[in-house]
Amino acid sequence: MSTVEILGTAQDAGVPHLGCRCENCEAAREGTRPTRYASAVLLEDAGRYLFDATPDVRLQIPEIPDGAFLTHAHLGHLTGLLYFGRESADTDELPTYATPGLGDVIGDNDPLRSLVSDRNVDLRSVADGSAISLETTTVTSIRVDHRESLPTGTLAYRIDGPDRSLLYMSDVDALTPRAESLVRDVDVALVDGTFWSRTEIDRIEDVPHPTVRSSMRVLDDADTEVLFTHLNHTNPLCDPASDAREELESAGFRVAERGDVLEL
Ligand SMILES: [Zn+2]
Ligand SMILES: [Zn+2]
Ligand SMILES: [Zn+2]
Repeated sequence: MSTVEILGTAQDAGVPHLGCRCENCEAAREGTRPTRYASAVLLEDAGRYLFDATPDVRLQIPEIPDGAFLTHAHLGHLTGLLYFGRESADTDELPTYATPGLGDVIGDNDPLRSLVSDRNVDLRSVADGSAISLETTTVTSIRVDHRESLPTGTLAYRIDGPDRSLLYMSDVDALTPRAESLVRDVDVALVDGTFWSRTEIDRIEDVPHPTVRSSMRVLDDADTEVLFTHLNHTNPLCDPASDAREELESAGFRVAERGDVLEL
């Protein structure tokens, strides 16, 4: 059997968020609400495979994984790769899967470039629909829409285990019919839950994400077990005692929490 462990559940910047004095951030600093690491999961097959290299990676995994699957070139999903370099874990050709464009970004730019020249990572290109067979699971890369301004693309990953299938979709601009069908097509889905509602931040037009409230309506009759992840620090779901949390759970959905283990 293989498992997927939740390593982090926050938007890229984590909770608390640098410089923010909002209720969620202050409560996380005080320890009265959970701190949240940036969104990532660990697939345990015969080997261990990290999905998303977050700035919190050194706190998220105790051991070097056997491979890393990257989703895209934003802060919370890429910068932790630096911890595999010479100043830190100094890995030896860690298989690292990414879109060809993201691979070019890593290979061409400091400080990431030294990961390639020092052979800390072995970059392997994955395209939309690429299927990587691991020991008992298959990992399929799926291109999703997330910021057209990001030319290197964004991937979701579908993991098919011996018994169950899982979708890891941390970032998506909208729950389009295609994105919805990706969720409906698996047994369990980790879905972009950045914002609860559109009133949460002023510049929501600049950071398109489906709101959890709208996703709950779209997925109301889905058989899939849906866990929301990638929570922004402003999201009331960060507070386990919030009305939003009660509304979510009474509708049959959950917030992903660090340490949760899903069997596949
Ligand atoms: Zn993100
Ligand atoms: Zn905050
Ligand atoms: Zn992003």
